[in-house]
Amino acid sequence: MKDEGSARAATGERSLRIAIIGAGMAGILSAIKLDAAGLHDYVVYEKADRVGGTWRENTYPGVACDVPSHLYSYSFAPNPDWSHLYSPGAEIQAYFEDVTQRYHVDERVRFATEITRAEFSGGCWQLHGVNGLREQADVIIAATGVLHHPSIPAIDGLDTFAGACFHSARWDHRAALDGCRVGVIGTGSTGVQIVSALADRVAKLTLFQRTAQWIAPQENPAYSSAEQEAFRRDPELMRSMHREMSRAMREAFANVVVDASSPQMQQLEAACRANLENNVHDPVLREKLRPNYRAACKRLVISPDFYTAIQKPSAELVTEDIERVEAGGVRTRDGRLHALDVLVFATGFRVDRFMRPMQVIGRGGLRLDDVWVQRPVAYLSISIPGFPNLFMLNGPNGPVGNFSLIEVAELQIAYILQLIEQLRRGRCREISASEPATAQFDAERVEQAKRTVWATGCRSWYLDDRGIPAVWPWTFDRFRDEMAAPKPEAYETVG
Ligand code: NAP
Repeated sequence: MKDEGSARAATGERSLRIAIIGAGMAGILSAIKLDAAGLHDYVVYEKADRVGGTWRENTYPGVACDVPSHLYSYSFAPNPDWSHLYSPGAEIQAYFEDVTQRYHVDERVRFATEITRAEFSGGCWQLHGVNGLREQADVIIAATGVLHHPSIPAIDGLDTFAGACFHSARWDHRAALDGCRVGVIGTGSTGVQIVSALADRVAKLTLFQRTAQWIAPQENPAYSSAEQEAFRRDPELMRSMHREMSRAMREAFANVVVDASSPQMQQLEAACRANLENNVHDPVLREKLRPNYRAACKRLVISPDFYTAIQKPSAELVTEDIERVEAGGVRTRDGRLHALDVLVFATGFRVDRFMRPMQVIGRGGLRLDDVWVQRPVAYLSISIPGFPNLFMLNGPNGPVGNFSLIEVAELQIAYILQLIEQLRRGRCREISASEPATAQFDAERVEQAKRTVWATGCRSWYLDDRGIPAVWPWTFDRFRDEMAAPKPEAYETVG
């Protein structure tokens, strides 16, 4: 490190200490890309004792990714062993652990090390963490995830329930399921996967639905061992599949949902409608499952087997509002008690937190909690005015709604590396998005967001406190163009 430092000094380069916060998909990626860029002086701080982020935390029955596995892989680390087109969560977790080891990132992660406060002072970030940790960094990369803080509704009587009760992202694997009466609250992607996985295992499965969901059909074939062998022999096969899947996802979905009036949007809606009409046989159940808003307004749920599962004799769809939880189960407003042994909250996440509860204090004592008091805002979801040398992956208002988050993060880290390069080359000592560029970007984003399918009249986690979709509202191509190179005029530099 010393030799590297003196070589740098001779060329006028600044040596940078970089703190990556979070060892999930984006944090692991950041570490690999920093190494590749010759930026070896970094630490990954991880509050848990394993890497994996969302895939470490979500271990519920049926957990899987509805982005095809060969696309939901780092572009530089294809995996010939994916078992299915859409592989289960445990395989995805194993993939991230494997990549972490192969790229020696695990040696750079400080586990059980939550950063609780980061303050920009004296030209660098002062980090405070658990167990009295006090360290410094020139740059912070916040890779802290989006769907990270479980949201559990305040339902009367919740603490009186006599059985096991937990959020989907905090699954209690000690709780018996087989032959038990299990209640699931929530019909998002998570609730649907749990119902599909449990309907055959439990004595009774009660799904409490507040809002019906459109379900896009999906086939999930397994890869044969011959296919896996072919991938192993010729990794180019996987790379071309990655490119093809990315193109298909863009054209069939990502570029479609941002234009609510596009003909492809109508095709998508027709496919969801046909899925419901053709696969739910009881007309009463079919109407209960029919949403009264446009497909893909909420985050589209993709499932091969939800309709099959909910029609099983063991399953019941309850659409009455929940009144309260009692020791023996859930009582709905019609007075009925749904007797349960286990109650699962598949009720989603608080999506406005990002790196918080970490306290982040920028230049001149500027507090992130104050800057984001109304709602989180950032330039291109990466940089916040007044918070120099702090860059976010999958930050606020980013492309969470329509792409593979791995592709998104790969583009973002390449962009962030260009900003870091300016610091390394000594072109400036501090860099952050300017206030006017951020305000203008967000104003345009908000206007465009009103034209997307997410703004066509439904409640969803995409919507901010004003009901405006808090996501990237343009096409993927535009996102890729923006990520190609930072616009110097959008940034303020010091030094
Ligand atoms: P979600 O989409 O936010 O869904 C939460 C569900 O809980 C909704 O059905 C909501 O009803 C219901 N709910 C919330 N509060 C309630 C209350 N007080 N009473 C009754 N119902 C209530 O959460 P999620 O299913 O965990 O999914 C979150 C995101 O995670 C997804 O959108 C997706 O981006 C990601 N995810 C991805 C995959 C994948 O395969 N890639 C799998 C799982 C999750 P309302 O609809 O009425 O609000």
